[in-house]
Amino acid sequence: MKRVAQLSIDNKLFWALFTPVFLVSLLSAFFLLSSRFNDLNKHLLERTEDITKLVATTSEYAIIFSDQNMMLSILQNALNNQDINSVQIFNHEKVIIAELGNPSDNDQPSLTEQSYIIEHDTHLDSVRPIYYTNNRLDEAFNTQTRLLDTPVQKDLIGWVKIDASTSVRQVEKYQYASLVLFILTIYNIIIIWGALRISQNLALPINKVSSSLNKLVMGQFSSVKLTRLPTEYSSIQADLLDLTERLEKHHEELTAGIEESTEDMRRSMDSMEEKGAQLLIANREAMESNRLKSQFLANISHEVRTPLNAILGYTKTLKKGITDPQNQLYIETIQQSTNNLLAIIGDILDFSKIEAGKLSLENGHFNLKKLVDEVYQTLSINLLSNNKDIDLIPDFQTDMPEWFIGDSTRVRQILNNLIGNAIKFTHQGSIRTKVSVIANGDKKINLSFQIIDTGIGIPEDKIDRLFKPFSQVDTSTTRQFGGTGLGLVITKKLVEQMNGTIDVSSTSGVGSTFRFTLTLKVSNKQQNQYAPLEKHVVLLEPSAAYRSYIDNYLQSIGVTCTPCSDLEQIISTIHKQHEKIDSILLSVMPDKQSIQEARELISYAYEQYQLPFIIMIQPSGQASHYDALKNLSSDILLKPISQDRLYNALENIHSTSPELVSSPAEISTEATQSSPNRLQGLKILAVDDSPINLQLLGHWLTPKNIEFSLAYSGKQAIEMATQEAYDLIFMDIQMPEMDGMETTKHIRALPSHKDTPIIALTAHALNSEQQQILSSGMNDYLTKPIDEDILLNTIETWHKNPSSLQDQIDQKMVDIFDLEKALAIVDGKEEIAKEMFDMLANSLDSEKKLIQHHLENHDTEKLIEVVHRIHGASKYTGTVSIARHAGFLETHLKELGLEDVEGVAEDFIESIEDLLSHRELIPWTLK
Ligand code: ADP
Repeated sequence: MKRVAQLSIDNKLFWALFTPVFLVSLLSAFFLLSSRFNDLNKHLLERTEDITKLVATTSEYAIIFSDQNMMLSILQNALNNQDINSVQIFNHEKVIIAELGNPSDNDQPSLTEQSYIIEHDTHLDSVRPIYYTNNRLDEAFNTQTRLLDTPVQKDLIGWVKIDASTSVRQVEKYQYASLVLFILTIYNIIIIWGALRISQNLALPINKVSSSLNKLVMGQFSSVKLTRLPTEYSSIQADLLDLTERLEKHHEELTAGIEESTEDMRRSMDSMEEKGAQLLIANREAMESNRLKSQFLANISHEVRTPLNAILGYTKTLKKGITDPQNQLYIETIQQSTNNLLAIIGDILDFSKIEAGKLSLENGHFNLKKLVDEVYQTLSINLLSNNKDIDLIPDFQTDMPEWFIGDSTRVRQILNNLIGNAIKFTHQGSIRTKVSVIANGDKKINLSFQIIDTGIGIPEDKIDRLFKPFSQVDTSTTRQFGGTGLGLVITKKLVEQMNGTIDVSSTSGVGSTFRFTLTLKVSNKQQNQYAPLEKHVVLLEPSAAYRSYIDNYLQSIGVTCTPCSDLEQIISTIHKQHEKIDSILLSVMPDKQSIQEARELISYAYEQYQLPFIIMIQPSGQASHYDALKNLSSDILLKPISQDRLYNALENIHSTSPELVSSPAEISTEATQSSPNRLQGLKILAVDDSPINLQLLGHWLTPKNIEFSLAYSGKQAIEMATQEAYDLIFMDIQMPEMDGMETTKHIRALPSHKDTPIIALTAHALNSEQQQILSSGMNDYLTKPIDEDILLNTIETWHKNPSSLQDQIDQKMVDIFDLEKALAIVDGKEEIAKEMFDMLANSLDSEKKLIQHHLENHDTEKLIEVVHRIHGASKYTGTVSIARHAGFLETHLKELGLEDVEGVAEDFIESIEDLLSHRELIPWTLK
C-alpha cells in the first residue's frame, strides 16, 4: 500500500495499462509453446512408430529367408530418416541379426510380444515384434472381400528396435521458443511504449494542476497563469485561473498589511530605542545625582562631625575641672545633646545609605553572647541617667553556639536600636533578650531574637506605622523621649539584608515584644568551655526575674544556689547552710539604706562564718555610692551582669577582712593610666586645616609627654616630614588645596616615612571612601568624633605593632587578587592587564544581580551560562578567589543542578563582593 501511495499518477496509469496486456501476452506465449511442444513430441513418436512398423513388416521375408542383403537394404531405408540413430533386428532367439547406425545405448531391450516406445533423455527406443503370416494373400483377400473366414497363422520370428534421436526435436523446440520470446519482447516493448505515452498524456493535466497548486502555495502566481491544460480540461483551467487571481489579490493585500505593520514596528522600535537612550541618560543622571547625594551626605557628615568632635572633646576636658554641681549638670547636658546629635547624624547617614543601596555587610567572627552583654552594658547608662529600675536579662537557649560569622557592627546596631527603644519606653520591670535557634543548617543557622519589655506598649492601631520612615507612634513622645523615627526603619532594612524578618506584638500598658530572625554562618572558633565550678552560693536578689536568670546561669556552670528575696530570708539561710556556703551573691540597690544594710550583713557574715561576698551593683556612673562596699567584698560586678565576669568572680572567690583589704575590684580603665610611660618621647605630627581640632589633639597628647607637631595644610606637612622623622602621623582627609590622601602619597615617597604609620582622621563613613583612604597608603583610620581613649589606644597599637592592619589587608588581598598572575598572562603589560581586569570588574555588579535573578527563578541553564562566562574571564584577570568559587559553582550546577546550591552560590557572590570592595586596594602602578 505504501509503495502504491508513493507512485506518481503517470506511473500508476502506466502499470494499470501495461500489467493486463503483459499478462495476456505471457499466457498466449505459454499456450503457443505448450501446444507446439506437444505437436513436436507427438510427431516424433508417430514417425518412429511408423518406421518401426514398416521395418517390421518389410523385414518378415528377409528374416525367414535370412536374406542379409534385403535386411540391410530395409535397414538402410529406415536409417535414411533424419531422426533415426540406429536400427536393429533380433531373431526369435533375441539375437541381433542385422544392425545399422549407432545405438545410443547397448542395453538389451525387453523383447515381448507387445510393441512399445520408451523415451529416454536424448533418444527414443521403439521395439516391435515381427511375425510371419502364412496366408498372407488369403488374408489380404479376405479382408478385402470378407467372404472367407479362414484362420490366420502368425509366428513370432523376431523384433525390430529403432533408436530415434530427440535432438532435432529439441532444436526445433528451442527455435520455436526463441521465436515466441522474440515476438513477445517486441510486442511488450511496443505495449510499454504505448502505455507510457497514454499514461503520460492522461497524467499531464493532473500533474500540471498539481504543480500549479504547489506554485500557488509558494506564491508564484504569474507562472501559474501561464499554465495551459488540454482543451478538454478548459473548465478546470478557468477555475484555476480564477483561484490564482483571487489568491494573488489576497496575497498582495496581506503583503501590504505586513509591510505596514513592519513599518509600524520599526517606527516603534526606533522610538523605543530613543526612549531607551533617554532612559539610560536619565538613569545615569539619577545615578550621578544619587552619587552626589551620597557624597553630599558624606560631606555634611564630615562637616557636622568635625565641630562636634571639638565640642565633645572639650566638654569632656571641661568636665574634669568642674566641681560645681549646677555647672556639671550643664556640661553633662551639652555632652548628652552632642551625643544625641551624633546618633541622629549616624541614623540619617545609615538611612540614606540603605536607600541608595550602598549599605554593604562585612563578615567577621563574633561572639553573640558577648555582644548582647556589651549592648546591655552600654545601654545600662541610660537606666542611670533616667533613674530607672529595670532588669536587663539575656536569655540564651542552652547549647546554642556562641561564635558566628557576620557583620557584628550591624547586629549590634539592631540590638542597640531595639533594646535602646525598650529601655526608653519602659519605666520598671525587665527587658529580656531571648535568643534561640530556629533551624540549624549545614553551615548556617537561623536565629530568633525576642526583645521583650514591660513598658508602655504600642496601641494596636499604631503598630502598622512603626517601620515607616520618620513615623513615631505619638509625636508627643518625641518631645518626651527624643528620636528621629528612623531607628526601626533602619533596623528592619538591616534585618532584611541579613535574610531575616522583623515583627512586633504589643499590648498598651503591658509591654512590647520585637521579634526578628537572622541567618548567620556558624564560626569554627571554639566556644569558651567553662569547667563546672562545684560550689554552693546563696543569692539575694529582690527582682524575681533577675533572680531566676542568675539562678539558671549558676546551675549551668555547676554552682548550686539558694535564692533569697529579702534580708530575713538570707540571714536564716546563712544560719542553716553556713558550713557548705562558698560565697554570697548580693544585689545592692543604690539607696543609702540598702547600702547600709548590705554593710551590716557583710560584717555580720564575716565575723560569724568568714563568708566571702560578691556584690552586684548598678553601673559605674554611680560607683561612688558604693565606695563603702569596695573593701568588703571579694568582687564587685556591675549590672547587667556579664556571665564571663560572674564566672571569673566565682572562680576567684577569696575571703576578705572588711577592715584590712584594699579594693580588688577595678572599675576604671587601665589603658589610660599606663599609657603615659609607653608613649613618652614619641614624635607625632598632626595635619588638619582646622586649628580647633589640632588644639584638641594637642590638649590630649601633650600631657602624655608626646612631642607633638602641627601642620595646617598638606604642603606644610610634606615640608615638615622632609625635615623631621615622625613616629606617627595623624592626617585629616578633607583639606583645601591638597587633601589628606594626596599628602600621604607624597609623604610615603619620602625615604624617612616609607613605613611611618599614617592614620586618617575622617568623618567619612562610606565604605568606598574608607577603601580609598587605605589605598592611598594610610595604615588605619579613626572616625570623628575622636575619643581621647581611642586616640591613645590607637597610638599605642601602632607604636607597638606598626603593620597590623596593613598586614591584615595584604593577607586578605592575597586571597582575592593575584597581581603577579594577572601580569604574567599578558607578558607583564600592566596596561592590558588592568584593562582586562576593569572590564571584568565593571561587569560584576550587574552579573551578580543576574545570578541572583536566575537563582530566584531556578533557571539552571542561564545560571550556568553566566557563571561560566565569569569563570572564563576571571581566570585571566588575576581574580583568584572569583575564579575558584565560579569553578566550584559551575561544577556543582552541572553535576547536581540547583540541589543544595545556596551555600556555594553565596560563597561565589561573596567573592564578587570582596573583590569589588577591595578593588581600590589593588597596587596597580598605573592609576
Ligand atoms: P526613634 O528613633 O524615634 O525611637 P524608632 O523607629 O526607633 O524611632 O521608633 C519609632 C516609634 O516606635 C517610637 O517613637 C515609639 O513611639 C515606638 N516604639 C518603638 N519601640 C517601642 C517600645 N519598645 N515600646 C513602645 N513604643 C515603642
